[in-house]
Amino acid sequence: MIAALMPTYNRADLAFERGEGCWLYTGDGRRFLDFGAGIATSSLGHNNPHLVAAIAEQAGKVMHVSNLYRVPGAEKLAARLVAATFADSVFFCNSGAEANEGMVKMMRRAMAETGRPERFRIICFDGAFHGRTLAMLAATGNAKYLQGFGPTVEGFDHVPFENMNAVRDAIGPNTAGILVEPVQGEGGVRPASLRFLQELRATCDEYGLFLGLDEVQCGMGRTGKLFAHEWAGIEPDVISAAKGIAGGFPMGAVLAREAVARHLVAGTHGTTFGGNPLACAAANAVLDVVLEPGFLEGVDRRGRTLWRELEKVVQDEPEVFSDVRGAGLILGLKCKVPNTEVQNAFTAEGLLTVGAGDNVVRLVPPLVVTDDDIATAVEMVRRGARRCRPSLSQAAAK
Ligand SMILES: *Cc1c(COP(=O)(O)O)cnc(C)c1O
Repeated sequence: MIAALMPTYNRADLAFERGEGCWLYTGDGRRFLDFGAGIATSSLGHNNPHLVAAIAEQAGKVMHVSNLYRVPGAEKLAARLVAATFADSVFFCNSGAEANEGMVKMMRRAMAETGRPERFRIICFDGAFHGRTLAMLAATGNAKYLQGFGPTVEGFDHVPFENMNAVRDAIGPNTAGILVEPVQGEGGVRPASLRFLQELRATCDEYGLFLGLDEVQCGMGRTGKLFAHEWAGIEPDVISAAKGIAGGFPMGAVLAREAVARHLVAGTHGTTFGGNPLACAAANAVLDVVLEPGFLEGVDRRGRTLWRELEKVVQDEPEVFSDVRGAGLILGLKCKVPNTEVQNAFTAEGLLTVGAGDNVVRLVPPLVVTDDDIATAVEMVRRGARRCRPSLSQAAAK
């Protein structure tokens, strides 16, 4: 008989009862160092006093009123995001996929409203992940995810990541824009080169296209900048954010330049929950921390420390790992043995991680991870790797 909770996930047999900082505790008293952060989402860690207080205080006032009324917390949050980024205007929603949907709608609508309605196609990349709604499945383009869900939504073309010639070849009379993750997360923690991002910007300018960035995973401080594209010194036209934006409270956002945003006039797009007082209280609390002077520099520094230490493990475990990749606190260990095996070994050592495509294990700790947490995690990675040495299992089999 089917489980009451629909079995759409392969869940680890772990149930956490509470958390504190980067640590999670099961009901039966075991503790785990959380370098998965609920898939790069619990940006302030668990039970962060500032975030908890903000949510509790807002819940005690009013949680939800709908977008039929002004929401001061949303106005404040949008103004802060505008002040801190390239964007002129922000739309709030509830998830990454929904933010990406909004971004694509904005690009298409801006083309239609400026006399180019035939320009609706979006160029996307192999290895991308943009979410699980019908249109974002098409944008993701992974055949495995599309299987059995009927006709693929029209309007998404795929080219190899990091290949400018392929991008140029794919641009046609129906192209509206380009959609890319500055760091591919699910696809295997593959950062776009800064040069590639710069060339995408230049190409969009040359052809009059919109550059849309999916910063759902790599944004909100994860790479050591508020948004990952800042490393490339470029300004996109529109980006999506979600995951870490409200520290684990569900929220998404589309940040856009006026040229794109102004075409989504009243009545053209909407959501019941998006940007409600509770979500905005959580996101404002996250921003309080992330925008504190020195915080992002700290993420950058700790990311470099973790990278350096992982590099050493890779050198010491050449049978298990081939390299470290990523940026800031979104790092991947490319494995030579199945990544699920490595992940299980890490879990057995008390370290939670997330799998990714291309046989990679992802390390995406809370942004507030301490140097001590990092040292502890690296020890667990070392011990876990030792368990995975193929020579060891061969010896054991004899
Ligand atoms: C997780 C993710 C999404 C989808 O976000 P949901 O909140 O699960 O809908 C989209 N894009 C990227 C890059 C992601 O990492």
